[in-house]
Amino acid sequence: GQCVRACPCGALDYVRERGGVFSAMHDPEKVVVGFVAPAVRSVIADYYGLTPDAAGAYTAGLMRAVGFDKVFDFAFAADLTILEETTEFLDRVASGERLPQFTSCCPGWVNLVERRFPELIPHLSSCKSPQQMMGATVKNHFAQRTGIPLEKLYTVSIVPCLAKKYEAARPEFAPDGVRDVDAVLTTTEFLEMIEMLHLRPEDIVPAEFDEPYARVTGAGVLFGASGGVAEAALRMAVEKLTGAPPVDLDVHEVRGLAGVKEATVTAGGTTVRVAVISGLNNVDALARRIRDGEDVGYDLIEVMACPGGCINGAGHPVPQDREVRERQQVLVQIDRAAPVRLSQENPDVLRLYEDFYGAPNSPLAHDLLHTTYAPFRPAAQDATVAGAL
Ligand code: SF4
Repeated sequence: GQCVRACPCGALDYVRERGGVFSAMHDPEKVVVGFVAPAVRSVIADYYGLTPDAAGAYTAGLMRAVGFDKVFDFAFAADLTILEETTEFLDRVASGERLPQFTSCCPGWVNLVERRFPELIPHLSSCKSPQQMMGATVKNHFAQRTGIPLEKLYTVSIVPCLAKKYEAARPEFAPDGVRDVDAVLTTTEFLEMIEMLHLRPEDIVPAEFDEPYARVTGAGVLFGASGGVAEAALRMAVEKLTGAPPVDLDVHEVRGLAGVKEATVTAGGTTVRVAVISGLNNVDALARRIRDGEDVGYDLIEVMACPGGCINGAGHPVPQDREVRERQQVLVQIDRAAPVRLSQENPDVLRLYEDFYGAPNSPLAHDLLHTTYAPFRPAAQDATVAGAL
């Protein structure tokens, strides 16, 4: 009723999806594929007292113990997002059109644009979020490669986010009525499933993520915290503009929990000015200025609805300030120790392009990995308009 209509992200319509996931796991016909977001493993590390380097394998082991047939790492889709989004961004820089480009990986932010700032829609990247890129890739590339019929493939994302439940249910992400992501579990719901199954830490066998999306980069893992998308995109943009990646990969200016951060990078004669905003209250003034035609001096603006980014998402157990900082440090340390720290060097992403998508922003990539946005029209308003006609 009123409560659902008042929910800013519409997520209250879609709470509690555990039952559907358990049913799919008990259906011998179904292949249940799970993918887990980087921010979730930062909470798992804290919850089980793990070191950052052990968090990924332990999370994969938990997913197998819960009953997933295949376990993939969302950070893979974050790398894919960077290739698509940075290619789009550099095209806009070359043409000077639709700048600044806003990131589109946070459905809370996308909803705000569609509802309150529809004039900014052309500035949003057309990239789907990593969740929807992963779902579309599994339902197309993985299904084709394995021969699993779509009606037997059930995809579940495990995320820190309530808004992603609403996002997965958007009709544009269910081509021909088949959803790219069938169910969305929050970190809290996933931890509850572990409790319901009475899985004890000693029952968990750390595991690898599955092929063909097993390898991820440090850049992809950084997506879980505010500034991570911008940092990963800059690492690729500098390489594309100069022919070589930056000498120092860390972009310290965009890290940390401040609501507004900025960085300027000059590469190959091009200067890129980046703003990183987390917490929707921090974007309001800037969004109004851009809507009103002011040149705000930025080329790329990352916006995350939750303060500090997905590590502070509403789908996690409620953290203390200390815990948010620790969650961020887990991701930073995973990146620092990662054998590959550039999305554009992820061997499994490069193979996916070679085998399937062709190239970033190719027609097939546009078809499956990009989307469109529309100004929000409340159902009640639609009914009134229809009645008047
Ligand atoms: Fe979801 Fe918050 Fe992350 Fe946005 S910042 S994707 S709302 S968890």
